[in-house]
Amino acid sequence: MLEDAHGRAVSGVRISLTDRCNFNCVYCHNEGLGDTRGPLDPQDEEMEAADVIRFLEVVEEYDVRKVKFTGGEPMLRSDLEAIIAGVPDSMEVSMTTNGTYLPGRAADLKTAGLQRVNISRTRWTVRRSTGSPSPVRTSRCSGASRRPSRPASPR
Ligand code: SF4
Repeated sequence: MLEDAHGRAVSGVRISLTDRCNFNCVYCHNEGLGDTRGPLDPQDEEMEAADVIRFLEVVEEYDVRKVKFTGGEPMLRSDLEAIIAGVPDSMEVSMTTNGTYLPGRAADLKTAGLQRVNISRTRWTVRRSTGSPSPVRTSRCSGASRRPSRPASPR
């Protein structure tokens, strides 16, 4: 079993599959990362699917039973379904996403083994189903927590 510096058991891991994102949130920083807004093509420094899966196979031997995939925006990885399909069966699989690309891929991700999704966006929206102007605030993306803020610029 793995333990952190305070003696607590490590039962889950979080893997950032990419620094890239299709958004440009005002509070999201990219210092030291270059321009994380693009390109949308895979980048050389990202872990390959086989390396991600091998890492998970190793930590499984140390009783890690949960993995959460994050980014950037993890759905920019075209091989996300293959990565999820390769996660050891003993692990619970979740993902944090801004949700942009869920339509059209959600079913395949579920088939691959994805069990939970956190959709994280900071924006005010209107409840269209009721026509009510009540704003709904959703949570910030996890990408914001590891980056300091930068000014927004048009795409
Ligand atoms: S906060 Fe999240 S959604 Fe926004 S730009 Fe950063 S990684 Fe993308």
